[in-house]
Amino acid sequence: HAKALGSNSQVCFNPAMTAEIQQRYQLELALAAALAAGQFELHYQPQLTDSGKVVGVEALLRWQHPELGYVSPARFIALAEETGQIDSIGHWVLQQACAQLQRWQSEPKLRELIMSVNISARQFYQPEFIAQVQQCLSQYQFKPEQLMLELTESLILADLDDAVSRMQQIKQLGVRFSMDDFGTGYSSLSYLSRLPFDEVKIDQYFVRSASSGKPRDWVIVEAIIGIANTFGMKLIAEGVETQAQYELLRQSGCYCYQGYLFAKPAAAAETARWIDEHSPLS
Ligand code: C2E
Ligand code: MG
Ligand code: MG
Ligand code: MG
Repeated sequence: HAKALGSNSQVCFNPAMTAEIQQRYQLELALAAALAAGQFELHYQPQLTDSGKVVGVEALLRWQHPELGYVSPARFIALAEETGQIDSIGHWVLQQACAQLQRWQSEPKLRELIMSVNISARQFYQPEFIAQVQQCLSQYQFKPEQLMLELTESLILADLDDAVSRMQQIKQLGVRFSMDDFGTGYSSLSYLSRLPFDEVKIDQYFVRSASSGKPRDWVIVEAIIGIANTFGMKLIAEGVETQAQYELLRQSGCYCYQGYLFAKPAAAAETARWIDEHSPLS
């Protein structure tokens, strides 16, 4: 059989591959039990303006497994999408984030925060998704404008018209959309004009180009900033790690930032404390 497929085909059956499949399967089983076992937690990373005011936070999923330890979303989110587990995990994330936003309504420095929630493509196209958003808005007390759903380009590639129509239905509820990781996918800049996004997030890959001596990438950053400003979309740079990156972004017309330079994602109480200490009132 291997011969028929050519001499390279044996790579398909090497032991390393089997180990990989086994590992993946173990992760899949662990993931299936994680939600019920209470192993998930949301962390929140502040988003700041030039003046240092914290205007929002991004909710980021954390998974602590008793044996596997901390598993990065970069490892398990894609798997959860493939297996469909993201449906229930994503719903849980949305509810947790909304519940947190409601809890923060009693804190003067936190009550106006925008809560950004990552939504996977599969979750977004689920028939129940719009109803789930609606349900969260009626169950939890905060302004719908405070909820920002982060979508990536991969989702739009599936079906542009369907994506627009779903986004519009959700926007009618008052909820807003952010285009995450912009510039890293395969979509064209023209999508930005066709999709009703309220915000564009400049991916950390491009933020790094600020100081990495890749002037051609920096030109793209400036183009993204220009287009977002022209279309009246909010701009935020993510993964800002150095003062040099921050200065360059600022000079180029960016005005909102998220990154380790300011604050790392942390549990709700810690983030609340950080905001209380670092953000000027109003
Ligand atoms: P993302 O949505 O682009 O989130 C930004 C990622 O950059 C986060 O990684 C964050 O911790 C990290 N980050 C923030 N500031 C810096 C910085 O200054 N330097 C560096 N190197 N990294 C920084 P994280 O939390 O590991 O999440 C990775 C990705 O997993 C996210 O990328 C998002 O695509 C996905 N993800 C996380 N939570 C969720 C979730 O609840 N639902 C879904 N569908 N996806 C999620
Ligand atoms: Mg995101
Ligand atoms: Mg991103
Ligand atoms: Mg990313």
